Amino acid sequence: MSEIKKTEKILGVKGMNDILPADAPLWELFENTVHTVLKSYGFQQIRTPIVEPTAVFSRGLGAVTDIVEKEMYSFVDSMNGDELTLRPESTAGVVRAALEHNLTYDGPKRLWYQGPMFRHERPQRGRYRQFHQVGAEAIGFTGPDIDAEMIMLCQRLWDDLGLADIRLELNSIGDAAERRLHRADLIAYFSEHLALLDADAQRRLHTNPLRILDTKNPAMQELVNNAPKLLDYLGEESRAHFEGVQAILRHNSIPFTINPRLVRGMDYYNRTVFEWVTDQLGSQGTVCGGGRYDPLVEIFGGKPTPAVGFAMGVERLLELMKASGEQFAPNQCDVYLVHQGQPAQMQAFVLGERLRDAGLDVVLHCASTSGQGSFKSQMKRADASGAAFAVILGEDEIARGAATVKHLRDADPAHNQHSVALEAVVDHLIDHIVGNDEHGHEHAGHIHYHP
Ligand code: ATP
Ligand code: MG
Repeated sequence: MSEIKKTEKILGVKGMNDILPADAPLWELFENTVHTVLKSYGFQQIRTPIVEPTAVFSRGLGAVTDIVEKEMYSFVDSMNGDELTLRPESTAGVVRAALEHNLTYDGPKRLWYQGPMFRHERPQRGRYRQFHQVGAEAIGFTGPDIDAEMIMLCQRLWDDLGLADIRLELNSIGDAAERRLHRADLIAYFSEHLALLDADAQRRLHTNPLRILDTKNPAMQELVNNAPKLLDYLGEESRAHFEGVQAILRHNSIPFTINPRLVRGMDYYNRTVFEWVTDQLGSQGTVCGGGRYDPLVEIFGGKPTPAVGFAMGVERLLELMKASGEQFAPNQCDVYLVHQGQPAQMQAFVLGERLRDAGLDVVLHCASTSGQGSFKSQMKRADASGAAFAVILGEDEIARGAATVKHLRDADPAHNQHSVALEAVVDHLIDHIVGNDEHGHEHAGHIHYHP
């Protein structure tokens, strides 16, 4: 274990990022948009712990998946010896919770979650050790209708976020019996071409051959392109289900391509699988993945209960939003309160509360290590805050029972400054502020002044 010297700076964990104030507005915009869209489809939020018993994942995701084999942050609780893991994904935890609290006793449930996930991967662009997902799980629904609904929900979200460059890939991986037949043929096919398999594929040949189809190794593309296709092994019911999903998508003009090689990393998937992909993020181009996982509830010891879900990678979507060029830099506040002298400071506190009562965002100038700050330095801060107005309380103002209201975004000294009686300051500002930014937030940093 490496020790940190007392005088050395302590840095954060590699691959686990701080989200700084400059990025916070973008996160908020994303989260608010997601919440609105999920709510508009009747999804209800569920919040499960970040730590689960390791068995939730080793049983739920399957022992030979990438995540369980090598990506989990697992540890033994030193207090009681329990084996625990930082969640690498949320589906298993949500299903665990749904069963534990018998959530589907009165019918199927549309659930969603958000939060940090943890995977021990090599950090790189779009791939972190702590990253964030928003996901949804519809538990207890059988038909292709809910699969299509969830896909359409994603499409609506991309539209609302202004992301045009995300396309849908769709596949069906059938049920366990269909996959068994295909698997036997797949192993036979790859065995005939053993020399063409890379080390990873050779390792997976008898454990998880389906995942070989997912390889990113360019040298193996032709081999996997010609491999037996799972789609050709689907029985009547799986085929009808897949057709059903496609029919709804077509009817609603949701474009998609069928990618017969699309499989998902986890063991629990069956039938419909899908990914939303972009070309703008290099090799980390999948922004959302999902599918049906009918067997999972039973794997956790519950009654057979069909389900479908998806999870999106928030960091990758935010990168896309940034690339789209829109500016997300709202102001820190509407009003910056500048004051000089103790009576003015007292008055500034009172006025600040009244302005907040009226719904305005207010920053009250506070002393720093360099002191209270001259009038000039306070005005500099006011400017930097992005506020539309500075409200100034000096000794003169207090003597007059008034405040000086200065419009900071108006350079014309002829009308950018007014003396306003203290009782009238709130009304004066409300009269002059119209909050109507394009995202529909009140006063969210787009304030217009009408002198
Ligand atoms: P990949 O093939 O990129 O490793 P995955 O199949 O492991 O993805 P899922 O488990 O399906 O990913 O997670 C859903 C989404 O979460 C991904 O499509 C991606 O957008 C995001 N994601 C997964 N792992 C990471 C990570 N380490 N850092 C950032 N985002 C991630
Ligand atoms: Mg992965």
